[in-house]
Amino acid sequence: MLEVRDLYVSYGKVAALNGVTLSVPEGSIVSLIGSNGAGKSTFLNALSGLVRIKSGDIKFKGAPLSRLPHVIVGQGLVQVPEGRKIFSGLTVRENLLAGAYLNRNRREVQQALEEVFALFPILKERQKQYGGTLSGGEQQMLAIARGLMARPKLLALDEPSLGLAPLIVRGIFELIKKIRSRGVTILLVEQNANKALEIADYAYVLENGRVICQGSGQELLHDEAVKRAYLGIR
Ligand code: ATP
Repeated sequence: MLEVRDLYVSYGKVAALNGVTLSVPEGSIVSLIGSNGAGKSTFLNALSGLVRIKSGDIKFKGAPLSRLPHVIVGQGLVQVPEGRKIFSGLTVRENLLAGAYLNRNRREVQQALEEVFALFPILKERQKQYGGTLSGGEQQMLAIARGLMARPKLLALDEPSLGLAPLIVRGIFELIKKIRSRGVTILLVEQNANKALEIADYAYVLENGRVICQGSGQELLHDEAVKRAYLGIR
């Protein structure tokens, strides 16, 4: 579904990505892990057209991916940003409708809303509440649900577990699996390496803007160097 080849991104003189090659097969969950500043968010932002690419090649469903954010969403690649970034002064329902802003077909939007409510019953209950009144976990659900309103083929999630309690994190990861089972391919960027590898069909480790290691989620969970550097096991 997604093929990225030799991607370079710099912020002025600072190189953030130094030739990243990665692929996300249709129907899979692919995780990208790495420590702070490794380049994970930059990678997602480069995909979504939010940062300029110096060089490299991005193919999505066999064709070059646009560089214009709204066209990229229209092509089916949707990013759920780090830190949730929901609209706290809008209701839950308004937040969700904002996710479908490109779709002028009211019936399709209504259907997307119903699908999202089926997946997130709590958001249906809270649809009239302001986004800002939700708990952290509910806000993360809303951010993911808003992404789904655009009916993505590939959903890219930036640190969905950030700042959430372990029990809530477990719920979010269960939801990610459920979303995949409904036919949405997942690219997951996480600092919570344990969880991200457990759920992944395939995973990449990014360090200083380079892929330093890759393999199935299970392989990396048992890799000694990965364990030492990212899984807190000595
Ligand atoms: P985090 O988990 O903290 O978000 P990350 O792996 O997502 O880390 P990036 O945010 O992509 O890493 O950062 C990669 C590198 O690019 C870092 O060295 C960072 O300091 C630098 N960087 C990121 N954004 C900018 C920017 N807007 N201007 C200059 N340098 C930046």
